[in-house]
Amino acid sequence: MDCASLRSPPRAFNSIPGARDMRNRPSPMRRSLRRMAALLLGIFGTLAALSSLTACMGTIHRPEVERATAARLADTGGSLPEAHPPQGLGFTVLQTARSNGAQEAMIVSSGNWFKHRRPAQAAVLVRHPRGLFLFDTGLGRHVDEQFAVNTWLDRQFFGYGEVNPAADQLSKAGWQPERIQMIVPSHMHWDHVSGLADFPQATVWVTREEREHAEHGHAPGFLHSQFDGVQHWHELQFTQGPYMGFARSLDMFGDGAVVFVPLSGHTAGQVGMFLTLPSGKRYFFTGDVTWTIEGLRDKADRSWLLRQILHIDQDEAANQACIVQIHQIMQRFPQLTVVPAHDENVLQGLPHFPSFQE
Ligand SMILES: [Zn+2]
Repeated sequence: MDCASLRSPPRAFNSIPGARDMRNRPSPMRRSLRRMAALLLGIFGTLAALSSLTACMGTIHRPEVERATAARLADTGGSLPEAHPPQGLGFTVLQTARSNGAQEAMIVSSGNWFKHRRPAQAAVLVRHPRGLFLFDTGLGRHVDEQFAVNTWLDRQFFGYGEVNPAADQLSKAGWQPERIQMIVPSHMHWDHVSGLADFPQATVWVTREEREHAEHGHAPGFLHSQFDGVQHWHELQFTQGPYMGFARSLDMFGDGAVVFVPLSGHTAGQVGMFLTLPSGKRYFFTGDVTWTIEGLRDKADRSWLLRQILHIDQDEAANQACIVQIHQIMQRFPQLTVVPAHDENVLQGLPHFPSFQE
């Protein structure tokens, strides 16, 4: 049988009325497959368009802020500030819980709609020869009672799991929680100060603006049960001059190793912490300016949708100015490790208690 005879239908078939039309018409199954493919293409196309639209809406375009920030950073002379970290200075991460999470594009506007992220809630323990302190506490022993005052909807938005309070981790390793003399929360939101009650002897350092914001604040951001019982407060004041483009700073031990800077915007008095270790390694803990490193790298805010629903930042424009500044710092000083408080991937790369980075 030759090829031509394979391609041509038998003469008898061609003579059946309508047979030619039937051969050209796709079968019902093929038609529904085509429809399904078109539908899927439509859905993916819409999602891709939505994704680029939201990414666009979240990318920060603030030319005047960019210029002013660049000018301030130019004053640093292109080098990191001098520091004399003492031997023995180190830090470690105590992961206290994981958020139930959300699609990455909700958490950061440059993120992926198809990637699920589970931000972490952590405390950072800093061991300096002149004092042991926590930067944030993460979730504490009483988080379930504290969290119960939230509405059902907020409990869904901010749900958490895998709770392992910092005080428990310390006790299990033979560290008395009483050894923690100071706690410096990056800010007073519930997921950063839930463990204050587990360290009643510690002095809590916050800016005046932050304390006022918390005292006038309400759930879900601020939970009064977490800080109404604090016995020892200390007002954190930025008594020193410019540092890395920030107008003011506080050098905690006078050796340049632990330096706090104002990061107001997310809350009224959020603070960030620069840490320089004896090994020369440098870190910048940036609280909740963004929840992920991608936000700072891409100069991208939290998603527009989430910001409309939850009104996350006290002053969105001020927080965006912080994003711009940290973005520029990262570009100028790639040797600096930047640590957003909740970025589970960045935290994963840092030493966890009881091992310390020195
Ligand atoms: Zn937070």
